[in-house]
Amino acid sequence: MGETIIPLADLRYAAEMPVVPSDAAAPSGLLADRLGRPLRDLRISVTDRCNFRCSYCMPKEVFDRDYRFLPHSSLLSFEELTRAARLFVAHGVIKLRLTGGEPLLRKNLEVLIAQLATLRTPEGQPLDITLTTNGALLERKAQALRDAGLKRVTVSLDALDDSIFRRMNDVDFPVADVLRGIDAARRVGLAPIKINMVVKRGTNDDQIVPLARHVRDHYGPGVVLRFIEYMDVGATNGWRMDEVLPSADVVRRLSAAFPLEPMAASAPGETAQRWRYADGGGEVGVISSVTQAFCGDCNRARLSTEGKLFLCLFASRGHDLRALLRGQSPEGQAWTDAQIAAAIGLIWAGRDDRYSQLRSAMAPDLGHGERRVEMHYIGG
Ligand code: SAM
Repeated sequence: MGETIIPLADLRYAAEMPVVPSDAAAPSGLLADRLGRPLRDLRISVTDRCNFRCSYCMPKEVFDRDYRFLPHSSLLSFEELTRAARLFVAHGVIKLRLTGGEPLLRKNLEVLIAQLATLRTPEGQPLDITLTTNGALLERKAQALRDAGLKRVTVSLDALDDSIFRRMNDVDFPVADVLRGIDAARRVGLAPIKINMVVKRGTNDDQIVPLARHVRDHYGPGVVLRFIEYMDVGATNGWRMDEVLPSADVVRRLSAAFPLEPMAASAPGETAQRWRYADGGGEVGVISSVTQAFCGDCNRARLSTEGKLFLCLFASRGHDLRALLRGQSPEGQAWTDAQIAAAIGLIWAGRDDRYSQLRSAMAPDLGHGERRVEMHYIGG
């Protein structure tokens, strides 16, 4: 037959139609969910495409030539993203993280950054705007990103050894190019730089100490290396608990090479536990999303590539904000900022997600009944 059926609407992930309350108060910046958690951090996925095929995130077998990424018309435009971000900021968001997919693949991303950089908190403060990237295009784009108003950057880097790195990104991408991207980011003053390494036991756990040594020797305290436990996000990576290296083991291995001392968290809701090198060589972080769930003060919301609002990385359903940004009220009028802000407020006020904690208390195969959203779509 060879016929392609194009769905009228992209039903990739089920979404709730947001309710627009008629009598909501204007945003006060003091919004809290059912567990008393404020809304402070918005992660925006600007594309579902990536130039890497890391097996733990976008395995080649699934995300191959036949995979249908979202059409451009499904993506929120820069104007829609900036409008949405402004409404979140009115509710208390102070930090925006652009992610994906690979955010640097979104054309003219610096134009979006320049627009977001004009936003101010209700107190008149600029936002903390950052970006998570695999670093492949960073050398080329660092200056334009900085000029547009980006303050800092997080680079994902899973190995220092070139052959391990090429195997993990599964597109044969050389580690030297990412290291040059980090150098460029440092040169143009994107700071502090964070480097995130996802640790998979048996795949790259022998890279923990070499990467830490590289960061200490070449970059010093201005660059913070963080180790992330391999998580069971999405439904395509074939996650297994025996491939998770608990953060406690990471700290043990690191401190055998470089003695460490615990540090206090710098902000509530911070995902990483911080450690400092006893010799003053800077700090490292560990993100224990599997072995020590941290839902208690989670203040993050995620906006998917096509404008669905997710309240948890492990959620299976989002709230279709794009329908409000592009649609009309029953009276045939475009929804106003006040109405969309009220809808966002209602969604957050009803939030009681604490999937990671509940999962820790469950048998490993529970909680997979509903199809979970993929990380490249929701934003890591
Ligand atoms: N392409 C960008 C990058 O590589 O940083 C941004 C998107 S990526 C989904 C964001 C982060 O999520 C990366 O640091 C990646 O390593 C991490 N990640 C993806 N899948 C993961 C998993 N299963 N467990 C832990 N971290 C994961």
